[in-house]
Amino acid sequence: MRSLRSMDTLSRRDLLQKLAAAAVLAGTITWRPKSAAAAEGPGPPLISESDPAAKAVKYVENAAKAQGATPGSNCANCALYQGKSGSKDGPCQIFPGKTVVAAGWCASWAPQM
Ligand code: SF4
Repeated sequence: MRSLRSMDTLSRRDLLQKLAAAAVLAGTITWRPKSAAAAEGPGPPLISESDPAAKAVKYVENAAKAQGATPGSNCANCALYQGKSGSKDGPCQIFPGKTVVAAGWCASWAPQM
């Protein structure tokens, strides 16, 4: 049978272990939302149709209004589009630091392989 003194020591040790575990969990819990928020943050801004780089390739936000576009072609099905499937906008390899509208189009459109 343990003495009262040894039970106090054991309880203190258990408490310290639980506090350490809680601190680790708290760090993990508070870290994840910040990480997820950073990953899903606002992201790069949309490129404007009036941006000189966009004008150079005749970028438009609505492929239906594009002149010279192959019917059905748009940013979402372009090989240079880097947005997630089903996203309304995403990065494009020819506009670093900007995003394009998935329904957009430009003269650099290339079919996906
Ligand atoms: Fe859209 Fe493709 Fe042109 Fe980029 S290269 S703007 S994804 S059509």
